[in-house]
Amino acid sequence: QDPDKAKLYEAYEFTGKLYQHILKNTEQGKQAMEYLRARGLSDKLIDTFGIGYAPSNWDTLAQLLEKRQYALPLMEKGGLLSARQEGQGYFDKFRDRIMFPICDWKGRLIAFGGRAMGDAQPKYLNSPETMLFYKSKSLYNIHLARPQIRKKQQIVLFEGYMDVIKAWEAGVTNGVATMGTSLTEEHTEIIRKQADQVIVSYDGDSAGQNAAYKSIPILEQAGFLVKIAMIPNGQDPDDYITNNGSERFVREIIDGAVPTIKYKLHYFRKNFKMQEDGEKLRYMKQALKILADVPSPIEREHYVKELSSEFHYSFDTTLQDLNEIRLQAEKSN
Ligand code: ATP
Ligand code: MN
Ligand code: MN
Ligand code: MN
Repeated sequence: QDPDKAKLYEAYEFTGKLYQHILKNTEQGKQAMEYLRARGLSDKLIDTFGIGYAPSNWDTLAQLLEKRQYALPLMEKGGLLSARQEGQGYFDKFRDRIMFPICDWKGRLIAFGGRAMGDAQPKYLNSPETMLFYKSKSLYNIHLARPQIRKKQQIVLFEGYMDVIKAWEAGVTNGVATMGTSLTEEHTEIIRKQADQVIVSYDGDSAGQNAAYKSIPILEQAGFLVKIAMIPNGQDPDDYITNNGSERFVREIIDGAVPTIKYKLHYFRKNFKMQEDGEKLRYMKQALKILADVPSPIEREHYVKELSSEFHYSFDTTLQDLNEIRLQAEKSN
């Protein structure tokens, strides 16, 4: 194996332990500990996820790495240190941040996500891509979730660190996160071998809902059975658990995840003012277009029933309209 890589793995492991130690056992870590407590994380949960704290000093880590004879230019290239702009030397990349270790599927630490506690920007600072860390191939928590993913043949996809952690405590131990980047085909390749089913549980805000919508074709093309968990009022899974409790999260959000067709029908709704007849008709047209692509006749019938009864059209008329759309689509192909 590449000796630089081996050294970097070692340095990450050392750094992760250091940050954990600073969080748990030092005066400097107190405020960070209070922050985590206020967000509802127990000591056990903090340990499970190896959460730590990078102190606010400029070079706590740089000095320790130097003392242990790590090559500092390699540590910079590896994303742990930054080179000084003026003069020589290095300083710590992460300062005054809560540190979430990111591991590969074998559990080796390969990167960090660092959250600011106050209003410091950016809110999250993630490690850059390095010889160990490829964003489009990494999923937060894949190492801990893997056994449960395989057992259940199901994976739950979240956006962020806190969502994964709070969901874990709620009993959803097959959850991973894409860490803010959009889902790639490389991600799906990794998880396709582990499970048949995916529940997309992104944030309830419009950014999250758009990302969920975009993930559908990627996941379906990879052959997954996909469901979408919908969270009300723009909350994210972490907010929802804090506001409504673990049990309701599992029962209503995860177990209540809907098939992608139902999600698509819902997703377009916000663009229409349903009180107006013209808008209602435009929505029906859009909805029937979505249904026209559904291969299974039973599934089509199911949604035609739902739509027609909700909007007070007869089942037969609605089905007739749908079949016409399908006929036209066939002709133009
Ligand atoms: P919190 O609950 O701590 O406020 P969050 O997970 O709800 O965090 P979001 O803004 O929803 O934060 O972002 C989702 C995920 O996207 C984060 O967990 C993080 O992995 C990533 N992310 C967010 N902001 C940034 C950023 N500025 N740079 C890089 N990654 C980011
Ligand atoms: Mn978000
Ligand atoms: Mn969020
Ligand atoms: Mn959040």
